[in-house]
Amino acid sequence: MQKAIAYARERRVTYLDQFRDWLRIPSISALPEHGADCVRAAQWLAGHLREIGLPRVEVIPSQRNHPLVYAEHARDANAPTVLFYGHYDVQPVDPLELWTTPPFEPAQRGDRLYARGASDDKGQVFAAVKAIEAMIATHELPVNVKLLVEGQEESGGEEIHAYVPRHRKKLAADCALVLDSGFFAAGVPAITVGLRGILYTEIEIQGPKSDLHSGVYGGAVPNPFHEMVRVLALLHDKSNRVRLPGFYRAVREPSEEELRMWRALPGSDADLRAEVGAEGLTLEDGRTSLECRWSRPTLEIHGVGGGFSGAGGKTVLPAKALAKVSMRLVPDQKPEAIFKSLDRFVRRQVRPAYRVDVRKLSTGRPWVVSSEEPAVRAAAQAWTVAYGAEAKFIRVGGSVPIVDVFKNTLRLPVIVTGFGMPDDNLHAPNEKVELPAMWDGVDAVIRFFHEFARTRR
Ligand SMILES: [Zn+2]
Repeated sequence: MQKAIAYARERRVTYLDQFRDWLRIPSISALPEHGADCVRAAQWLAGHLREIGLPRVEVIPSQRNHPLVYAEHARDANAPTVLFYGHYDVQPVDPLELWTTPPFEPAQRGDRLYARGASDDKGQVFAAVKAIEAMIATHELPVNVKLLVEGQEESGGEEIHAYVPRHRKKLAADCALVLDSGFFAAGVPAITVGLRGILYTEIEIQGPKSDLHSGVYGGAVPNPFHEMVRVLALLHDKSNRVRLPGFYRAVREPSEEELRMWRALPGSDADLRAEVGAEGLTLEDGRTSLECRWSRPTLEIHGVGGGFSGAGGKTVLPAKALAKVSMRLVPDQKPEAIFKSLDRFVRRQVRPAYRVDVRKLSTGRPWVVSSEEPAVRAAAQAWTVAYGAEAKFIRVGGSVPIVDVFKNTLRLPVIVTGFGMPDDNLHAPNEKVELPAMWDGVDAVIRFFHEFARTRR
């Protein structure tokens, strides 16, 4: 292991040049005009994987120009296998004028390298690739590796969601390493052991068949906005709990041990309030903000549309009102059951003068893994040593759908981690990666492979 670590350390200057080349390719998957760039970024990666000695590398063609890159190095049938996941596609860059230097001209300022994708997720994929290169070159690769790198993470991920279930055998492994996450705070490396799921819906309430004059018809004809705001207002109680019947029934509380770890993390509810610049927080009674964001389900209204909300006045009696409503779910809530509850609740509340439709737009299951899981412990150990600070077990309030696929379709323990920093400006102007964290990330991946192989022996 030490030879591999030393090998990678000696080559940082060369590695940085290679990394810059990859970052120059604007692989924005959400914009069709960058389709060719996505293909180019995939080919760059595939070429690189061949160069570092992976015997089997494939670029899997895709309908929307977002090919998957698959590679493997099967070293020894008796050794365990790690499936690595990351993505090479990046977010759009607007507003461009807020970037200090152009997003696809990587610029180093101090220890930071600024470019779109530097942290999310090319930097993390690159670190893993360099770790694998160093282990192959020094004959210190202790596991079989499979890499699956997608080009559509930022725009739906249909390709990988279709691919994985059809290639269970090919992707068979002993654990999956998902490098698309990061530190809890500067100086606090972390392993993510829980993600919330999501249920995204829209509610449409219809009054008259078309917009009407409120002077002529108002008072006698049902106004769907009145009904919509009344129903939406019923969804929470005064202590910020969601009022859907059965909403909390399947919620699994985190263990005392987990709550104790969360309380010991830096930062307070007051810090959060200051960070978001709100007058106060809407915590559930007796719960901290981390608990509310990590282990509690929520319901959010994202927007209400229809009628008139432009400048000035228009006396319309609207025909319909539409609300976008999503719920973040936690173990063991099931999106289907929660959708049924919402649908039933809304239908029951809406009065007969209105027509109502509740539609499900997308779902993702919540995920949690035990911090006692050997693969997770191996990662925590590797991250702790590589970064010289104890890795903490955290959760993340958002959703990473591929994690559920690896868990439930491939039946793998999944490790979600990385070295992104909270201030890396993901999805925003001036995205950057902390280069020391990226180099330590190469060490961390090498250490993880060895630690995992050791636990399996
Ligand atoms: Zn990402």
